[in-house]
Amino acid sequence: MQNTAQGSAIVHLENVGVTYGNGVQALESISLRINRGEFAVVLGSSGAGKSTLLRTINYLTPPTQGTITVDGLGDLSNPQVLRLHRQRTGMIFQQHQLIERYSALQNILTGRLAYHSFWRSLLPLPQADQRLALDCLQRVGLMDKALTPVNALSGGQKQRIGIARALVQQPQLMLADEPIASLDPTSAHRVMTLLRDICQTDGIAALLSLHQVDFAKEYCDRIIGLAHGRIIFDGPPSVLDHHNLDEIYTHQAMAQPHK
Ligand code: ADP
Repeated sequence: MQNTAQGSAIVHLENVGVTYGNGVQALESISLRINRGEFAVVLGSSGAGKSTLLRTINYLTPPTQGTITVDGLGDLSNPQVLRLHRQRTGMIFQQHQLIERYSALQNILTGRLAYHSFWRSLLPLPQADQRLALDCLQRVGLMDKALTPVNALSGGQKQRIGIARALVQQPQLMLADEPIASLDPTSAHRVMTLLRDICQTDGIAALLSLHQVDFAKEYCDRIIGLAHGRIIFDGPPSVLDHHNLDEIYTHQAMAQPHK
């Protein structure tokens, strides 16, 4: 099933495929529009290609086939387009990827580095950036941890710093790869609520990969089901039924030989 919503797309993938150097075909013929303001989740079993899809949208893993176009900028294979797209795209990772010995505030400020030249980024960042970082810290409810080294924070607090670091980029798109996989249920709900509310308030589109179907149904407005590197479901949670879930999690696409 294809999502027919025709909102204005921020990113448009056309026939995108990724084959890794070892010959594994992680994505195959993915055509997908990520629309302004939507909160979408990619579901799929382990190895389905969720992480590759998110990384491809930021060219951390460039596609080996097909094209990715960014609205108003052009083809992502153009280095200048990629630089601007990365500035406007926040990434959130399962293991936070924070610098543990840095304070919460210093970590958030690293989200501004893409806006400065290499040489400028060696100096303390401008006050406007520092004010913005403090504002983001406030929005994730951790103002009192500004000067605390990240290694003294809980998993949930670290992920909230990860959200603030993405938010300080003033993104139009957030890509979150398994953002709650390492969290207890209470922290996971807190992080999902925060992420959804921030994205709604700021009009940021989000694409998350999740393992938990119940979280996907509760928080998102679009579910993209992946199996063996192909999209096999794309629609709102209200139409996702047991049959779709069976397909997403037990799809026998492996029976079809990959080219
Ligand atoms: P998911 O996030 O759904 O678990 P991945 O995107 O991580 O799936 O992986 C999709 C497929 O690509 C898997 O078969 C995985 O083993 C393979 N894969 C992922 N990353 C690499 C890599 N860097 N090199 C080779 N194969 C990879």
